[in-house]
Amino acid sequence: MHASYYDNPLAFFCNSGQKHTSMTKLIRLSLLVFAITNISLAQPSQAPEPVLPYSPSLDMSAMDKTIDPCVDFYQYSCGGWQKKNPIPPDQVAWGVYGKLYQDNLAFLRGILEQSAAAKGQRDVVTQEIGDFYSACMDENAVEKLGLAPLKAELAQITQLKSVRELAPLVARLQLDLGGSILFQSGSLQDPDNSEQQIAGMTQGGIGLPDRDYYTKDDPKSREIRERYLQHVQKVFELLGDKPELAKQNAENVMRMETTLATASMTRVERRDPYKRKNKIKLADLEQMVPGFDWPAYFRTLKTPPFEIINVAPPVFFKELDARLKAEPLSNWKNYLRFHVANGYSPYLSAAFVQESFDFYTRYLRGAKELQPRWRRCVQFTDRDLGEALGQAYVRKVFSPQLKASTLDMVRRIEDAMALRISQLDWMSPETKQQALAKLHGIRNKIGYPEKWRDYSSVKIARNDFLGDVQRATEFERHRNLNKIGRPVDHGEWGMSPPTVNAYYSGQMNDINFPAGVLQPPLYDAKMDDAPNYGNTGGTIGHELTHGFDDQGAKFDAKGNLRDWWTKEDKQKFEERTKCVADQYAQYVVVDDIHINSRLTLGEDVADLGGEILAYIAWKDATKDKDLKPVDGLTPEQRFFIGFAQWDCSNEREENLRVRALTDPHSPSKYRINGVVVNMPEFAQAFACKAGQPMVNPPEKVCKVW
Ligand SMILES: [Zn+2]
Repeated sequence: MHASYYDNPLAFFCNSGQKHTSMTKLIRLSLLVFAITNISLAQPSQAPEPVLPYSPSLDMSAMDKTIDPCVDFYQYSCGGWQKKNPIPPDQVAWGVYGKLYQDNLAFLRGILEQSAAAKGQRDVVTQEIGDFYSACMDENAVEKLGLAPLKAELAQITQLKSVRELAPLVARLQLDLGGSILFQSGSLQDPDNSEQQIAGMTQGGIGLPDRDYYTKDDPKSREIRERYLQHVQKVFELLGDKPELAKQNAENVMRMETTLATASMTRVERRDPYKRKNKIKLADLEQMVPGFDWPAYFRTLKTPPFEIINVAPPVFFKELDARLKAEPLSNWKNYLRFHVANGYSPYLSAAFVQESFDFYTRYLRGAKELQPRWRRCVQFTDRDLGEALGQAYVRKVFSPQLKASTLDMVRRIEDAMALRISQLDWMSPETKQQALAKLHGIRNKIGYPEKWRDYSSVKIARNDFLGDVQRATEFERHRNLNKIGRPVDHGEWGMSPPTVNAYYSGQMNDINFPAGVLQPPLYDAKMDDAPNYGNTGGTIGHELTHGFDDQGAKFDAKGNLRDWWTKEDKQKFEERTKCVADQYAQYVVVDDIHINSRLTLGEDVADLGGEILAYIAWKDATKDKDLKPVDGLTPEQRFFIGFAQWDCSNEREENLRVRALTDPHSPSKYRINGVVVNMPEFAQAFACKAGQPMVNPPEKVCKVW
């Protein structure tokens, strides 16, 4: 409901998780067997048993009761939290999700230190995650190696003889580094047949977080480009170039990236699955971009044979071809040298780590300090070996009871959605039938995957951190590419089990709640239903609603890109979502920057729909209970405060600016206040009157679902 996009930029994923801001094959061992082998094989280590700190899903001390809830409900619910929780120097924002995420990292650190310290014959998971983490933590070894781990790749770049030879090298670099060297490629679900995986490619190749950074002409954007240029120059100097030459190289990189950015889709355009769809024959790709040796490229990637590939947007790849013809070989060499060094910076010696932090995290997002090394190492382990670390994690935090109670909540929210759909006064019976079929087709994935990904083919060495990252990246790239031409695996997860986030996938038509997001204070087994439904219930409703938001509504029950709406219903739907877009467009992020409500529309609609569903489900789940006030708050008030407190947060202005351009989620305050203004149940719970800020006038009340 929150965070970042699903890792695969090619996927026709509707919306990713994080109700807020900020990856299977072969059963190796069942959980139970794993638990036993772990105890019998690995000797108890010296590292202490990790504990996840507890905070309740409704925290009275997080409130600011001097504020009138009808004037600013977010401030009323979260004012105390904001005062008690200043942003730590190494963070760009600090909120309930972020804090749980950090507590979770400390907990995972405990697991990793135990694994690293385990003696004797170790099971494969303990060995993988323990050695990966140890190699990352060995800062002296990393420092001593300096640029040595990049020598082979840099030499390959230097030895290039012609622009034609770029293709196999780009493929090699994409395998080792992942991400986006020049462009991005991989497998994706066929938008017309969601049971099938096909090949795909999309835009990429830039070093700033979004194409808009290269095209906008306001003073702040110009300043950011100037600073980026200095950053690129600095990276060239770290690679050994003299300042004068480094400056010239940086200018060339900037110019090349600008042409690629200009030919790229905006984030708003990328939200439209039809704009991301462009299936062509492989032979047509070769005709469209004749300057790139595609057979050599795909041979190096070892992709399974295929004939059809999704290439979007085509204009980007045409521009790539123009660049291949226009730029001399030396410019391409420098472009690759920069992207290799820049991409690997977080795993290199201190000078590279610091430069990367200074530009991307300090300057762009406002953090004051680099995160301690252990925290970065836990994050790298979760990213590269997430389902190995995840096995150890869920054994400690995700009991069968927790799975049963959260699954029960999911089913109740789905029932509420079925009820809402059948009651909608604006939707025709035909479309309702399709909507209900879609709802009933949703798969619920809770906690962790049924089959664990097997990393045993990845060589993890305790003294070769960068090599470990490269081999794990290559494993993931091949895993992704090998799906081309195969049926879709519905058991696959797009997030690791410890992830504090959740997502809905339109093509899979499933909702995914990793174990990490079902912990207090988000889901609190010690607390009663009111705040839990307000909080996690709302998140579940949020993810479900994504199946029916302006993007999700374009996919049918099977996850195929097919319009299942009648024309009239679609029009009425768009009128209703426009109400939400108009409301959020009024909200100011920072200075004169308003929310780009065409970017945030899907999330804003999901926030509103989710909370309405949670309220209905909560009322139904507790209809036979005699609910009493607690701490002077009525059950209804506690439901809404539980809702608001999922998103108590503080955020740096710099980060708000980046998010205003890149994040499909509105700022925290509006994700709460923007919802309650549209809910008469809220006005009633707090006796708010017409005309007060937290009550939309009747003609402006938005209701979609
Ligand atoms: Zn969402």
